[in-house]
Amino acid sequence: MRQDMLDGLRRAYGKESSLIGRDIIQQIIMNADIARAEQVPICQDTGFAVVFVELGQDVHIAGGDFYEAINEGVRRGYAEGYLRSSIVSHPFFRKNTGDNTPAVIHTKIVSGDNLRLIVAPKGGGSENMSAIKMFKPSEGIEGVKQFVVEVVRAAGPNPCPPVIVGVGIGGTFEKAAQLSKEALLRNLGERSKYQDIAQLELELFEEINKLGIGPQGLGGRTTALAVHVEIYATHIASLPVAVNINCHAARHQETVL
Ligand code: SF4
Repeated sequence: MRQDMLDGLRRAYGKESSLIGRDIIQQIIMNADIARAEQVPICQDTGFAVVFVELGQDVHIAGGDFYEAINEGVRRGYAEGYLRSSIVSHPFFRKNTGDNTPAVIHTKIVSGDNLRLIVAPKGGGSENMSAIKMFKPSEGIEGVKQFVVEVVRAAGPNPCPPVIVGVGIGGTFEKAAQLSKEALLRNLGERSKYQDIAQLELELFEEINKLGIGPQGLGGRTTALAVHVEIYATHIASLPVAVNINCHAARHQETVL
């Protein structure tokens, strides 16, 4: 578990008024300590390997297929780490691929000559609680707020709270979904650079933590550790909003080559 998550959990422990909620947060922290000491996963669901690639436009990939190289890395990483194979090759026939491939790979071409790889394994329980809605622009910020809070309320205990709520607003249908996932990559609680969006994050955070879902859904004020909102330009007729929830097992790590 990343340090920002541990710090967030410790802060939440100090503020949680429910005894059972405090106990669960303590167990999550203890679990993370054991996982680190024994080099085992913090959860049995070691996720779908989602890889964000930022490829500098001056980089030339030589010697083989880039996406196959990423999949080979996932294959080796999951095997060498004894991590659970959670991917099935077909949504209906559901035969396990046995090595957690293929990864979901998002590629962005950026300036420069670096290759940045962010690996963010995503658990199925929290991913399943995602939602997207195409609003009419006239429904505005209040409509968006109600939707985001309702998605978290409906998710209840399923995404293993305390959660991080990633929200993508704007763009097109698929752009909003991707933004909501990218929002989860921020350091916990890091505010949006836009003042109005930072304010929206704060208001959503407060509203969500009034829901009373609490740690593991057993009640308390710690339902979310953070709400991160990413925005993008959108069409005059559109206001897409996507919500992607991450459980407390929020794992992501990056490297720059
Ligand atoms: S939602 Fe997260 S903590 Fe819960 S089982 Fe899935 S990966 Fe594990």
